[in-house]
Amino acid sequence: MLTRAGLPSCRGRLSPGVPLANFSWMRVGGPADWLFQPADTRDLARFLRLLDSNVPVFVMGVGSNLIIRDGGIRGVVIRLGRPFMTMRFEGQTAVVGAGMLDARVATEAATRGLDLAFLRTIPGSMGGAVKMNAGCYGSCIADHFETATVVTRDGSIEKLDRHQLGFAYRHSELQADMVITEVELRCERRSTAAIESCMESYLVARNQTQPIGERTAGSTFRNPAGYSSTGREDDSHEFKAWSLIDRAGLRGQRRGGAQMSPKHPNFMINLGTASATDMEALGECVRQSVFRKFSVMLEWEIVRAGESYPPAAG
Ligand SMILES: Cc1cc2nc3c(=O)[nH]c(=O)nc-3n(C[C@H](O)[C@H](O)[C@H](O)COP(=O)(O)OP(=O)(O)OC[C@H]3O[C@@H](n4cnc5c(N)ncnc54)[C@H](O)[C@@H]3O)c2cc1C
Repeated sequence: MLTRAGLPSCRGRLSPGVPLANFSWMRVGGPADWLFQPADTRDLARFLRLLDSNVPVFVMGVGSNLIIRDGGIRGVVIRLGRPFMTMRFEGQTAVVGAGMLDARVATEAATRGLDLAFLRTIPGSMGGAVKMNAGCYGSCIADHFETATVVTRDGSIEKLDRHQLGFAYRHSELQADMVITEVELRCERRSTAAIESCMESYLVARNQTQPIGERTAGSTFRNPAGYSSTGREDDSHEFKAWSLIDRAGLRGQRRGGAQMSPKHPNFMINLGTASATDMEALGECVRQSVFRKFSVMLEWEIVRAGESYPPAAG
């Protein structure tokens, strides 16, 4: 077991055995061995530089695209809090701390006549948005991305450009142990009224079609290759995942306290009593059923992290 003595000193908060379920939208999952909430980028860089390179590190945002397994996460989980909720505007560029919520970025930008409306209904943080190349309603992070400041596992601070991020549909090539601390996004100019009305229409559309008030992590599976919602080359998908799940008769399918939402069959929800094991097992069952019916193997969009069982005592 990793003890405090085996970890570097820091100015931020370092806490043992923190239950992570409360930090995830699904409300499932076991504890982090250690949860580190850095005081600032320099604190994070120093901590990682001095941390034994054998200690695993996992970065989380606000957990809106995560299933944390019931055994929790070994090593150090890094979560960026208030010090990383910064935002300033330089001309048409938004410079945003990675802990800032997407929705706040969208609304703040709108007041300045800068259009990041698509972020308004995505419930994550900017770090998670870049890592996942989050998007909806025909726009995604890659359309606006300029640079990301990251701290590497050995504690150096680097600025990465779009080529280094290698964006694709709901995907970037960012290394799993790199922590994004700040992001620069380029915005188009538009009237505040037009952006606000657009954001309002997205909110209404979401509410009508998705179970947004539930314990969920958004789309469970990526749309399979072939179908395109934007027409772009890197965003083409033949079938929508929700339609395959629906046509396989799995809308509303349950396993323990986990369910494929009756409102949107590609959203998995925790009815209140689900374990991470229920959720993952339901997802795997859906993948197998869809494959048997359509010969399409769905790919998880939700990131699953951690271990199924806690480490044995002693
Ligand atoms: C109701 C609902 C609707 C949603 N709708 C959409 C949608 O329309 N479009 C869409 O794209 N997504 C959607 N999502 C999924 C989710 O909101 C996005 O993927 C979001 O970008 C995840 O951000 P997060 O901060 O919650 O990241 P987390 O879920 O905490 O983490 C996701 C991944 O990002 C990594 N990560 C997080 N922060 C950092 C960081 N600072 N540095 C490096 N890596 C990091 C994690 O390691 C993990 O691999 C939805 C989710 C919900 C619950």
